[in-house]
Amino acid sequence: MGLKVAKFGGSSVADGIQLAKIREIIENDEDIRYVVVSAPGKRFPEDSKITDLLYSCKMHIEHHLPYEQLYQVVCDRFSAVAFNLGVDAGLREDFETVLKAMKSGASEDYIASRGEYLNAKLIAAYLGYDFVDAAGTILFDEKGRFLAEETNEKLAAALAEHEHAVIPGFYGSKPDGSIKTFSRGGSDITGSIVARAVGADIYENWTDVSGFLMADPRIVKNPKPISHISYKELRELSYMGASVLHEDAIYPVRASEIPINIRNTNAPEDPGTFITAEPTEEAKARTITGIAGSKDFTVINLYKNRMNQERGFIRRLTGILEDFNIPIEHMPTGIDTLSIVVADDELAGRIDEVTEELNKQLKLDSIEVFENMALLATVGVGMSYRLGVAARLFTALADAKVNIRMIDQGSSEMNIIVGVENDDFETATRAIYEAFVE
Ligand code: ASP
Repeated sequence: MGLKVAKFGGSSVADGIQLAKIREIIENDEDIRYVVVSAPGKRFPEDSKITDLLYSCKMHIEHHLPYEQLYQVVCDRFSAVAFNLGVDAGLREDFETVLKAMKSGASEDYIASRGEYLNAKLIAAYLGYDFVDAAGTILFDEKGRFLAEETNEKLAAALAEHEHAVIPGFYGSKPDGSIKTFSRGGSDITGSIVARAVGADIYENWTDVSGFLMADPRIVKNPKPISHISYKELRELSYMGASVLHEDAIYPVRASEIPINIRNTNAPEDPGTFITAEPTEEAKARTITGIAGSKDFTVINLYKNRMNQERGFIRRLTGILEDFNIPIEHMPTGIDTLSIVVADDELAGRIDEVTEELNKQLKLDSIEVFENMALLATVGVGMSYRLGVAARLFTALADAKVNIRMIDQGSSEMNIIVGVENDDFETATRAIYEAFVE
């Protein structure tokens, strides 16, 4: 027998129908002893997430606008689910407590966190599990920084008292008892923290897709699923992964090497994707793991004679971008040339100011700017074990008549990044997929 922590995301707990599904999943697997839940998400595309409604309540309060009706919508959703499932979780009292807190100036974090709090109480009652609050067990310091080790100790001790428990995701508390939330989508992090604290064998993250796909299904038709992926590959594919799993969710389980299994609540028979610390043999055996990318980058090419001899050139360069508060996405270098790639939304229309400053401080021979660029990462640990991967990739792009404007092979040797024009992004993605997968 193993031990699993299962986290269910917003769409998996959106209404009574979804809750019946998660109960079946849990009842069919006695290893699932600890359950982490999000607030109810959307039931249909135009629906509102409970968390968004709660943030909206806070905004109304701040602008002295009526918010009671909005809050009533939140309460009604919980009441309807409780009624449909025939559970009495005693939420009415909580509804009153939250309303009182709202009236007396409760913080945004407190209000936003109540979606998870109420849902965890309701689901605990429905499953017959204990409710263990995240306040007092998931700990932040007074500045709002997460305290990993203190939390691990406190939470492990608290959960040891419970054979089965439901824990609300997304938040914890500061030393003064006030509520602090993680960033949006943060219940994934809570799940990971709980998995570490109880020493789980697997952290199951239940959502509405059957794991990661090798490419974006909006671009490539029926891309193959990824059965196994390492943490490192996932980071390299973060352009793609972010919407399925919160980026910070890998850190708590990473040190204890607990695999994360992305699963689909609506298709529980699918094995999903396993995210593991080290690449599995299966992962090494395939050439590439996935392709992901995104549009709207700017490439700035810097030219200066004898750049390679100049001491401190890169330090000064990065200092200038730091002053503008612009992160550098990539930095391919030549002998007397260097390119920096930055995201357009970080640049925020300041390209002229940035180039002027670069020219002034670095005394460049010339500088060139290419806008409307897309970056495309082809990732796989298997790459370093094989010959001819780059040749295959570049041939595929040439055959598809895609002009490659920039190449950057990560030092990890498991990632080749190409810069292409925004307009070529889809064609390039399909060409690479076909070259390696079809
Ligand atoms: N409910 C929160 C959000 O919508 C946290 C989560 O679902 O993970 O961001």
